[in-house]
Amino acid sequence: MAYVVTDECIGCKYTDCVDVCPVSCFHEGPDMLYIDPEECIDCNACVAECPPEAIWADIDLPEDKLQWIGINGEMSEKYPVIHESRGPRGEPTEAPAEPSSQPS
Ligand code: SF4
Ligand code: SF4
Repeated sequence: MAYVVTDECIGCKYTDCVDVCPVSCFHEGPDMLYIDPEECIDCNACVAECPPEAIWADIDLPEDKLQWIGINGEMSEKYPVIHESRGPRGEPTEAPAEPSSQPS
């Protein structure tokens, strides 16, 4: 068994799911994340951190999403591990520095 990211992840602006994964098995593609089925330890921690409900246990996947099992396996080999969340995707995590003084 492993957990699987499905198409609801496409375009998600957040990656909070990554921070709770104890084995760093999320991989980041251009549009969405994928879970490496060889590394996932089925802890279920990421599910509650995914607002679009994109993450499923493979045994619970509805029939029309079964193809995502293979896609996660394939894409997690292709794309790099994402080790920590980065806030809104594509934007820096740190807020811009505040100006030291206000203009008068
Ligand atoms: S929170 Fe869910 S939808 Fe967002 S990046 Fe993580 S797996 Fe994808
Ligand atoms: S079920 Fe656990 S090990 Fe698997 S991807 Fe989610 S947080 Fe990581």
